[in-house]
Amino acid sequence: MRAVMYREYGGPEVLEYAEMPDPVPGRGEALVEVHAAGINGFDLMARSGRYKPNKNVFPHILGGDFAGRLVAFGPDTAAPIAIGARVTGWWVLSCGFCRQCRDGHPNRCATEYRYLGAHEHGAYAEYVKVPAANLIPLSDNLSFEEAAAAPSVFGTAWHMLVTRAQVKPAETVLVNAASSGLSTAAIQLCKRMGAFVIAASSTDAKLARAKEIGADEVINYNAVDTVKAVYALTNGRGVDVAVEHSGGDFLSKCLKCLTQGGRLVTVGGTLSYDCRVPLHYIFHKELKLIGSNSATKSELEAAFALLARGELRPVIDTIMPLEDAAEAHRRIEAAQHFGKIVLRVERARH
Ligand SMILES: [Zn+2]
Repeated sequence: MRAVMYREYGGPEVLEYAEMPDPVPGRGEALVEVHAAGINGFDLMARSGRYKPNKNVFPHILGGDFAGRLVAFGPDTAAPIAIGARVTGWWVLSCGFCRQCRDGHPNRCATEYRYLGAHEHGAYAEYVKVPAANLIPLSDNLSFEEAAAAPSVFGTAWHMLVTRAQVKPAETVLVNAASSGLSTAAIQLCKRMGAFVIAASSTDAKLARAKEIGADEVINYNAVDTVKAVYALTNGRGVDVAVEHSGGDFLSKCLKCLTQGGRLVTVGGTLSYDCRVPLHYIFHKELKLIGSNSATKSELEAAFALLARGELRPVIDTIMPLEDAAEAHRRIEAAQHFGKIVLRVERARH
């Protein structure tokens, strides 16, 4: 099959469009003909080597988010999905046996937490194999490109906002880095939950887009002081919840934006994991710092139910051919995008 892989860590130029062996589904696995693959910020970290889940095993194929057609099951494998069906999937590969998995927290799997495109070959390819239990049938209301743009960001946003931060109607939520795919999902989900959303980003153009998808107020953090702006927009009160995934200085700024008893929920550190925590804010205001990691399959299915009804919408910046994956990574690194970049797999062989 044709796939985008890399043989060493590095810049976007290490991504090669090349021939790779077709994946062969084993027991419990399914083979999916990929029609579209979504790019995640995580992919860039795994490509650069900042994070090495593939443990230096090359060549490696990125891509945790996919949409396509189910074409085969491995031996002695079945799922209540017909061959030929349109499918997407849950990217988490957990052991299923440890206490965390048994208690409904496979996203915290204590023995073998892995995910598609990170620890295993992913979906920047014509075919991908996944556990059959991870498949999710796809509504005809969603295109392959829309579906491939959705899993990581809407699943992660659901786990973060519904399950972990437990956002309530009428609460005020600050969503940082508003142009990222995750933030475009978070803004919509917060609105769906009845919250008042303040979005922060680096340019007025991105903030105009954030308003289009539901943000009530916006802050250009290159033009104004984010903390002062948040207090000005909330009559000096601060926000109930801050959504953070940039890390670095952003985390401490977001903590300072919280009102008494506020919660900061973090799902990553795309810029840096080194953060200063203003400890006096934490104890004086009894703030909560909440970690959130991935999503469960049930949470992802819930998100897809709302996506299928059009109550949430994937925000797609650009659709590019699979072979242009390097260019897509450059666009994300240059922070030119708003929402998701999706790779479309041209199926010349079929
Ligand atoms: Zn486990």
